[in-house]
Amino acid sequence: MLQLRPNCECCDRDLPPDSGEALICSYECTFCRACATETLRMRCPNCAGELVARPRRPADKLAKNPASTERVLKKHGCEKAA
Ligand SMILES: [Zn+2]
Ligand SMILES: [Zn+2]
Repeated sequence: MLQLRPNCECCDRDLPPDSGEALICSYECTFCRACATETLRMRCPNCAGELVARPRRPADKLAKNPASTERVLKKHGCEKAA
């Protein structure tokens, strides 16, 4: 099951489980759309894998399988991809 992390790993912006702005890699590294497109160029800085839109979990399912509340943040932010 996807963790649905609560924030962008680069800029710490909130990414609620119903957000359409969240992108993830196959390891669930999570980024906002602005960082993913402008800074990272759709490639995960941790694993070099591709970033894709994170699917939204329906609200009634979230009650039973809540999103992660553990914030993951890169200490020094994200460098702009060349
Ligand atoms: Zn961000
Ligand atoms: Zn990754």
